[in-house]
Amino acid sequence: MKRIHLLPGREKALCRRHPWIFDGAVKEKNAQIAAGETVLVCDSKDEPLAVGAWSPASQLRIRVWSFDPQEKIDKDFFRRRIAAAVDYRKTIGVLEDNSGCRLIYSEADKLPGVIVDLYGNYAAIQFLSAGAELFRETITELLGELSFVKGIFERSDASVRKKENLPPRTGQLAGETVPDVINIEENGLKFEVKIHEGQKTGFYFDLRTARETIRKFAGGRKVLNMFSYTGGFAVAAFAGGAKSVLNADSSLPALKQAERNLALNGFTENFRNICGDVFQLLRDLDSRGEKFDMVILDPPKLIPGKSAMIKGCRAYQDLARLGFKLLNKGGLLANFSCSGAMDMQLFQKITADAATEAGADARIIHRFEQSPDHPVLLSVPETFYLKGLLSFVEHN
Ligand code: SAH
Repeated sequence: MKRIHLLPGREKALCRRHPWIFDGAVKEKNAQIAAGETVLVCDSKDEPLAVGAWSPASQLRIRVWSFDPQEKIDKDFFRRRIAAAVDYRKTIGVLEDNSGCRLIYSEADKLPGVIVDLYGNYAAIQFLSAGAELFRETITELLGELSFVKGIFERSDASVRKKENLPPRTGQLAGETVPDVINIEENGLKFEVKIHEGQKTGFYFDLRTARETIRKFAGGRKVLNMFSYTGGFAVAAFAGGAKSVLNADSSLPALKQAERNLALNGFTENFRNICGDVFQLLRDLDSRGEKFDMVILDPPKLIPGKSAMIKGCRAYQDLARLGFKLLNKGGLLANFSCSGAMDMQLFQKITADAATEAGADARIIHRFEQSPDHPVLLSVPETFYLKGLLSFVEHN
């Protein structure tokens, strides 16, 4: 194994068991080492600290596999890590028949660059780093050995692969052919998922607990569901007794799927789907004086990197302000951010400023977080990315 050295004083994050080593911290950052190769990471005094995967194209030059410098990164290593991820999902009770969950979540499961979502007996996998890519066959084989995995489909088409100089790749990977449409259930509600063509791997399991909360509070309400994707919140709201739902998304296939998902659960009326830009639609609704009893705002990541911080914060505030304005007295605003760079405190501040601008007094009823199948690893604060607020609005 090649020895790589950190510059003096740059081992601090590693000593706190944080797995990311940026090129600026590495003495041999331009070393000729193959993509994904396992290297021994040492401090500036040549003391071994960890073993990790070398990413020559990325600023994130090394992702640590193990903080035990003796640990061999082989099939057994991946078997142990996958088993730990599965055990954790058993503990939190998400490995139910016909259901789905995130089975492996990258850094949060100490497998940087590996994401696996389970839909019934089918797995959708993403390899997003050079290290993950190198062990693609091993990981696929081990996944196929799990009793509940019958077929595996690859969705390595996320844009982050570009940063690793890896081309996009999708397709059937192992086992039974993964069907075009998979039916899953979540809390007794039915959803169709298209692993082959949906966004990411097809469905946002990170919103599972948020859907439960929306269901609980939606009774009797006229709901505006913005960035609806395939209608997860719409189904949850109707299940909770919502009076009507207006969905909007820029993706027509997503809206068609939302209609299918609503029908699967017996909801065939009192909803409308609008294909278009939510930022514009909210303004149109406001200028027409429309009002709702619940507004859900779940945009895509509006802060993709630190440089987009100010612009992204403005966009979140703009959405929340318009959301508050569209609410009746006693209405509820559920606004979310899946940007890792946004923390809960800042999101609360932005939401508070938006309420002030809209002339609304609001109380926080609930704080949303990603569902526990997307664990937060304490040593890696970046694994906590999804946050949201449910605010009860009492207008001045
Ligand atoms: N709330 C969804 C997940 C939302 S993901 C759920 O419950 O599953 C974000 C969604 O926003 C995607 O479906 C994407 O198509 C949509 N989107 C992104 N930018 C948009 C825009 N400017 N206007 C409308 N929809 C947009």
